[in-house]
Amino acid sequence: MRNSALAILLAGTLLAGCAPAPPAGPVPTPPMERVELRRPDLPDPPAVDGPLQLSVAYPPAGAQVAVRDSNFIFGATGSGQATLAINGATVPVAPNGAFLAFLPVPPDGVYRLQATRGTEAGALEHRVQVSPPAAPPGRATIGSTTPTGALAVREGETVEVRVRATSGAQVHLVLPDGSRVPLVESGAGAEADPGDDFRPASPAGRPVTVLYRALVPSPDPWVAADTTVARPRLAPLVERWRTERARLAQPAVETAAVAPVRGSEGRVLSPRAELLRQGGVALAPTAPRIELIAGIDTVRRPLRLNLAVLPRELPLAGVAVAPANATADWEVRGRIDVEGPFHYFWPAGTRFQITGERAGFYRVQLAGDLSAWVPVGDVRLLAPGTPPPASAINAVRFNAQSDYIDVRVPLSERLPFRVEETESSLTLDVFGAISHVNFFQYGTLDPLIRRAVWSQPFDSVFRVHVELQQPVWGYDVVFDQANALILRIRRPPMIDPEQPLRGIRVAVDPGHPPGGAMGPTGLQEAEANLGVALRLRPLLEAAGAHVIMTRTDPTAVDLGARPAMAVDSGAHVLLSLHNNAFPDGVNPFTNNGTSVYYFHPHSVDLAQRFQAELLAELQLRDIGIGRADLALVRPTWLPAALTETMYLMVPQQEAALRDPVVQERIARAHLRALERFLVARAAAQR
Ligand SMILES: [Zn+2]
Repeated sequence: MRNSALAILLAGTLLAGCAPAPPAGPVPTPPMERVELRRPDLPDPPAVDGPLQLSVAYPPAGAQVAVRDSNFIFGATGSGQATLAINGATVPVAPNGAFLAFLPVPPDGVYRLQATRGTEAGALEHRVQVSPPAAPPGRATIGSTTPTGALAVREGETVEVRVRATSGAQVHLVLPDGSRVPLVESGAGAEADPGDDFRPASPAGRPVTVLYRALVPSPDPWVAADTTVARPRLAPLVERWRTERARLAQPAVETAAVAPVRGSEGRVLSPRAELLRQGGVALAPTAPRIELIAGIDTVRRPLRLNLAVLPRELPLAGVAVAPANATADWEVRGRIDVEGPFHYFWPAGTRFQITGERAGFYRVQLAGDLSAWVPVGDVRLLAPGTPPPASAINAVRFNAQSDYIDVRVPLSERLPFRVEETESSLTLDVFGAISHVNFFQYGTLDPLIRRAVWSQPFDSVFRVHVELQQPVWGYDVVFDQANALILRIRRPPMIDPEQPLRGIRVAVDPGHPPGGAMGPTGLQEAEANLGVALRLRPLLEAAGAHVIMTRTDPTAVDLGARPAMAVDSGAHVLLSLHNNAFPDGVNPFTNNGTSVYYFHPHSVDLAQRFQAELLAELQLRDIGIGRADLALVRPTWLPAALTETMYLMVPQQEAALRDPVVQERIARAHLRALERFLVARAAAQR
């Protein structure tokens, strides 16, 4: 966004001073759009009164706007004395000439800006791309359908089909054999939209569609007529395995004549067609279709889906390979669902049992009803028939070092695992492992460990539960050369409550570049973040901390390198400084404010302290703290938080971020939060 937005400022699309003033009278701005524009605890932007120079920082010229109803537009006029109208609506201009408006998206994609300053007049036409309008109301439509693309399920499994379509219709799934499965309206509201997290209700102007659902038990393989639809990667494997099994099953001598068999519908099938009917791939397109009837309208659409059925007796396994974008804190990530959040982080070499495939992910079996979804590109398939990964566990040992305690779980192969935290305990689940543990040793009592136990809660889950004498500071999980799984529990640093930062190693990450938000007058988020970080560093050092900066100048630093720098340098705490931007469609006047993000439970208190101090200092709206899967808060080794102090698109907040006095206030609020976090942890050490 940074480069394209900057390009607009330089692209010479400015027409200031060469067009007549708007002929029609401006319409009044709705009162809602002034809400929260000016905050009393921030200074007003400085007065700027230059010649008219209209520019739009966002949306970038030519960009596709992701919403059709209303969106924000911001930029600058060059003068705080200017009056501005966009497509006829009056837009307030800040004293420094910046503006921000939340307006209906022009149907033709052209924002027409008209400004005056005394006798001077200027105009600018700013073009964006607008999505084509939805189907006219009243016409029956079929929207998105799932699943689409490649799907593989196990024999006997039920497939759920979902269709978004006009409400109040009759919707059926017509299977290849002509039988029909009704889909039931399940009443979900409007289609997902990037701004939905901020919307109280479905806005007017979007088509009313609802979700219809049906369960199809034990389907046969389906093949889409459209050959561009993705095929399951597991299908050829299954086909090879079936061919090989058929060959092995034939008598050694009589191979010429194979009697025809009858299909379940009584049709006579060739051996190959029968083979394929049962399993991996079918010969001809046999995809079901969706049929929708609403009033006099009937709409039909084939499912764009290739479905393979995996035989129960065929085990499938794979091994994790690190993708190109892997970082220090993960090599392969597993999701709860193909569209769900990342929840599992595994090293390369971890072995999986594979039980399905969907939309570019393999389903890997963890335990019982528990599975995870891993990108197909991150898994190398092992030969079909490879038994599921498994290991017996014979002994677990604790090994105390000065900075950490290792819990070593020896395995015969690298199994998937998951760590769950509470405030002062860690629970390690190893999937596919069974206990032969007679000896569970934790040696002389370590002052950090209150209690440690192992258990076998399910047939295939070995569990180690460690309770600590104080809150979790951090941990790591790795495999050693001998495939043993090591849970490394970090010892908290010694904290002096009188001088809490003394001797503490603090990693400070000024967010971006690359990327980042931009303000109406062109302030880059990366510059604002660095301004605060460079004021925070001497404050921390004066308090006795060792500061590790991920950058000290405008040079871009790779996102993945930043948390690695913090962890490798032995930092005790990681703070990433940011300022925020909204996705298209969100009203920035009513939604701007301060928020802080964390990922692991051991970082919640740190996030809360930052939020409290920033709110107390700046009195912006409280958006709250949230768990977010961001690279800078994902390391398990230390408490980490990412602060989003202000919204750069709000003119007063952009101007405040340029102001050295405000930068210093933001830095001091972060300093106080770190001190309070450490004092609270020091209390837990006594
Ligand atoms: Zn940012």
